[in-house]
Amino acid sequence: MTHTTNSSLVTFKRLISYVKDKKLGIFGGILGMLGYAAVDATFIYSLKPLLDEGLTGKNPDVLTFMPIFVLIIISARGLAAFLSSYCMAWVGNHVVMKLQRAVFNHLMQMPVAFFDKNSTGDLLSKITYDCNQVANAASNSLVSIFREGAMVVALLTMMFYQSWQLSLIFFVVGPLVGFVINKVSKRFRGLGHQIQAAMGSVTTSSEQMLKGHKEVLMFGGQQVEQDKFAQVSNKVRRQNMKMISAQAISVPVIQFLASMALAFVLYLATFPQVMDTLTPGTFTLIISAMFALMKPIKAITQVNNEIQKGLAACDSLFAILDSDLEKNSGTKAIAKVKGDIEFKHVRFGYDGKEKLALNDVSFTVPAGKTVALVGRSGSGKSTIAAILTRFYDGIEGEVTIDGQSIYDFPLDNLRSQMAYVSQKVHLFDDTIANNIAYATGDKYSREQIIAAARTANAMEFIEQFPDGLDTMVGEDGVMLSGGQRQRIAIARALLRDAPILILDEATSALDTESERHIQSALEALQKNRTSIVIAHRLSTIENADQILVVDQGQVIEQGTHQTLSQKDGIYANLLKMQTSAG
Ligand code: ADP
Ligand code: MG
Repeated sequence: MTHTTNSSLVTFKRLISYVKDKKLGIFGGILGMLGYAAVDATFIYSLKPLLDEGLTGKNPDVLTFMPIFVLIIISARGLAAFLSSYCMAWVGNHVVMKLQRAVFNHLMQMPVAFFDKNSTGDLLSKITYDCNQVANAASNSLVSIFREGAMVVALLTMMFYQSWQLSLIFFVVGPLVGFVINKVSKRFRGLGHQIQAAMGSVTTSSEQMLKGHKEVLMFGGQQVEQDKFAQVSNKVRRQNMKMISAQAISVPVIQFLASMALAFVLYLATFPQVMDTLTPGTFTLIISAMFALMKPIKAITQVNNEIQKGLAACDSLFAILDSDLEKNSGTKAIAKVKGDIEFKHVRFGYDGKEKLALNDVSFTVPAGKTVALVGRSGSGKSTIAAILTRFYDGIEGEVTIDGQSIYDFPLDNLRSQMAYVSQKVHLFDDTIANNIAYATGDKYSREQIIAAARTANAMEFIEQFPDGLDTMVGEDGVMLSGGQRQRIAIARALLRDAPILILDEATSALDTESERHIQSALEALQKNRTSIVIAHRLSTIENADQILVVDQGQVIEQGTHQTLSQKDGIYANLLKMQTSAG
């Protein structure tokens, strides 16, 4: 019919595909809903024998039976209501759990570039708020809409059966009601999308304040943050009010339309020709049924906005599920590479940036050797590491390990060849031991973890904690100093006996003394593996087999410490500056 209803249907069908294996629950739910509607309809229908036979005295049995009938019917109604609520909630919560897991897992496999573009707050709000909207729609609202929908059908059927002439009025009013519901649905759906976006900014704004709390305090950013938050929270409020007013208007409008039908029937009753064809029971039945219709119609219009919000949330979650994962088409796994690395004329630019981050970079690292990258910050050193680990795709040129393009490796196989200490260490909210052995299960013994920590010069401070290796590091390692965090990250890399080692300014937060301590350990480690060491202090890389000086995305000097320091180039210059400063 219209675009919205079509896409609603598509979204709805896709949502339903998540419950394919929950047939029993759905069956129970539908049974409950139909039962509920049938009971209510029967109850109203019983007015007819009550009036026409019971109260007129034609059949006294009817009156005797009535009290028992009421009790039975109310119990049946309760049972049906319980069955439908329970089953649908069970199905609904399964859907949401599946959806939430799917989104979580999908996000985890998204390329790094995706996270450069989307704020953490927005993504968090999708997993929490949006999923919650689907949960609401799936459990509560779907129950009401189907139950009340079944009720409407049952009542209408009964009315038509009793007097199709009177009931014809619904052919006039029905489409009008449908039209209004369709219109407000679209509005609800649109508003739902806007509320989600607004909720995303609330999460983002809160997250910015919570994460940057110290900066806020020191630079007096309270007012700025307060204003920013006031704005986004007001936006949520305004969108919610729009939704509520749309709902508050639609309910009376639809009820007014329904009451037109009622008024018309009452008007017809003034014609004796009409009345003659009806018994008082039939007439009461039709009027009661019409009154009874009001409640489900109201409920349907009311929960419609929940459903539309849920569908809007589904749209946004499905959009995530449809976005491209990290490209992972390589099939040539190598159990353990030797570690020959080669960059051949590699060019790479970050999305949305005109200037290339790497501009024709070529170098080789023979297996077991160490290459050091030096250069000003922003010159492209970390980018070289990020290309090798395949955090970013879309390069020109070629990067090979053991002569095989890195794109021919399955991703996990490629990354398992490397131990990587990044410039920004991230620690998980867990114990030190679990951070060092992150995601390795039972592969490493306690002794191995301790050995790695000792080599990384971390054991000395770990032993000072009362809980030692079992100390919780707090969110992102807040309990530790920068140098301590780096040492844990180094231990983490050491533990994994990978053939390729990448250290991106791995010791930048250490004082010269600790650095010297680890230095020998790192050098021992580099001996039998291929290493790419990005250095911030030149003294740490004097023994590298080869030093590459990177500037503006290009390798502009290449050689050993010996040869480079004798040339009158950038390296010699950097060296001069650092020795005079240090
Ligand atoms: P280095 O590690 O040598 O300090 P980087 O490799 O981190 O330098 O950065 C090289 C260039 O790429 C810089 O100009 C930087 O602004 C840009 N850059 C780095 N990371 C990103 C990113 N995620 N998105 C866009 N540009 C980036
Ligand atoms: Mg860097």
